Amino acid sequence: MPSSVITVPVPLKDSHYDILIGYGILSQAGELAAKVVKPCRCVLISDEIVAPLHAPGILESLRSAGFEPHLLTIPTGEASKSMAFVSDLCDRMIQLGLDRKGAVFALGGGVVGDLAGFVASIHYRGIPVVQLPTTVVAQVDSSIGGKTGVNSPLGKNLIGTFHQPSLVIADTAILSTLPERIFQEGLAEAIKHAVIADEPMLALLPPERSGNLSSLIARNAAIKARIVGEDEFETKGTRALLNFGHTIGHAIEAVAGYGKLSHGECVAIGMIAALDLSVRMAGLPQDQADRVKKVIMACGLPTSIPTDLPTDSILTALGRDKKFDAGAIRFVLTPKLGSALVSDKVTLDDVTDIIKRLQA
Ligand code: NAD
Repeated sequence: MPSSVITVPVPLKDSHYDILIGYGILSQAGELAAKVVKPCRCVLISDEIVAPLHAPGILESLRSAGFEPHLLTIPTGEASKSMAFVSDLCDRMIQLGLDRKGAVFALGGGVVGDLAGFVASIHYRGIPVVQLPTTVVAQVDSSIGGKTGVNSPLGKNLIGTFHQPSLVIADTAILSTLPERIFQEGLAEAIKHAVIADEPMLALLPPERSGNLSSLIARNAAIKARIVGEDEFETKGTRALLNFGHTIGHAIEAVAGYGKLSHGECVAIGMIAALDLSVRMAGLPQDQADRVKKVIMACGLPTSIPTDLPTDSILTALGRDKKFDAGAIRFVLTPKLGSALVSDKVTLDDVTDIIKRLQA
């Protein structure tokens, strides 16, 4: 393997898989995948923006390694994460003669990764999936950890499975075609990782877009991999720490309407709220909270709630968030940058107060 490929192992209880990170490595996708998935008839699932940009070279590489790939594209955007597309993709795979010996390659952001991973987990009761993430969010977060799924009309990500990929290949060259706003929103997850697990990484954010991002992506992938390895099925509480900034973030996203403010922008605002609560309730020094806020701003992310989003609606949306256990508000706080804990001391009054202040 060329020395420019960084390997981050994801250790699970009964198995493990690798995340391979490097600049331009998707040109070797077939060769790398053939080491863990027997060459077979397979599908490359992508969306209509990513496929024309990046699928041709990958199809060629898969063919050279002995795979028989078929490209299936879906419309771009969150609306494709639905049972209708799951059914459609499975039907198209059956028509192509893809049986239990087949495999799925997921080329795209988190939408493609979640949908294709879910399809792989149920097609013929489960076939391998190789994740080829193309956004910052997907490379540092969604392609790692095996959470797959789609949205229900009643809520986001409510239908899904745990289906770990056989391999993740994160090609950082592919990030160069990302629109600026989508690149920036991915940095929210990197800031989150720094806050909960890697304080020195804050100094590396925001990165130079034109530089080689491989070591930064690898550093983030390693954090996600470690946490997933400790709590594969989200039963021990460790994985919940990844929700830092997400409780209020999800509520803002639901009220704004999915797509108006991006997920990463909502998480950025949610992190500002969580930092404030951390100062008041977990002993985080104010200057540390201010330091993270400066990084959030430098990454081009928002720090306040748009005034047209009613506080009451955000609170109602919070009540529906699946992170609330039996009525208690469980909140991820940071007592010191680089560490996090789940607190059950945050009251509805505390949350109401911070939402009002962030709207001011
Ligand atoms: P996305 O998949 O919608 O991609 C964003 C946009 O960027 C799309 O329009 C896409 O076509 C375009 N795009 C992707 N890669 C590109 C590239 N290299 N060049 C040009 N355009 C490109 O958004 P996302 O932020 O990657 O993922 C969001 C999804 O991920 C949400 O559905 C969320 O629920 C999910 N998610 C899942 C997990 C998990 O653990 N499974 C974690 C976090 C987020």
